[in-house]
Amino acid sequence: MSSAVTFVVPPVEVTTLPVTGGGVFPVRRVYCVGRNYVSHIREMKEADERDPPFFFQKPRDSIVGDGATVPYPPETTDFQYEVELVLAIGADGRNIAVADALTHIWGYAVGIDLTRRDRQRDARDMQLPWEVGKSFDQSAPCGIIHPASEIGHPGAGAITLSVNGKEHQRGDLKEMIWNVPEIVAQLSKQVVLKTGDLIFTGTPAGVGPVVPGDTIESRIDGLKPLTIKIGPKDA
Ligand code: MN
Repeated sequence: MSSAVTFVVPPVEVTTLPVTGGGVFPVRRVYCVGRNYVSHIREMKEADERDPPFFFQKPRDSIVGDGATVPYPPETTDFQYEVELVLAIGADGRNIAVADALTHIWGYAVGIDLTRRDRQRDARDMQLPWEVGKSFDQSAPCGIIHPASEIGHPGAGAITLSVNGKEHQRGDLKEMIWNVPEIVAQLSKQVVLKTGDLIFTGTPAGVGPVVPGDTIESRIDGLKPLTIKIGPKDA
């Protein structure tokens, strides 16, 4: 005998991203790596280059897809882009060995870690958490997911971002401080990595601000590009 659950308010809908070749990927949690390219650490002038990268989270509500118009968010006057390779996890695991890490990755996409840079710097200066700067609605645009079974596991290749047709960011995936297997292994020491988790893997140099009306195009070799537009100020 089954007992039907009565939701007293509407339950959260599953967040999904499209996949090349059909179907959708259900998003569980959104992790991000901070300070994973030396070139970006240098332009931020905020950390010892020998400090290891680290993880932070964005809410599922941060995910929007290719073609989205992202409203310019409240509580900032310095809204910035960071192009990043995104990993889509397809198998649970804890304490995953570097040698086994790729077997936990279902696919890859191009993502943008949108950031309230002024609020992030405030938080740093006041030694407060990063949420106000990083973890807000529609702050994690993510492109179509390519299955690893089709494209393999990219370890090198150009990663670029342009605003209104002018290139601002250019790096190479091989410049990551923690490479893709190391990221998976490291995060799985902190939490049980779960199917559906996304991991944004950090950004190279060239980050900067956008304003309403701007179009951002981000590219990684071998993946479909991710294009978003910045909409009018939200509140
Ligand atoms: Mn980032």
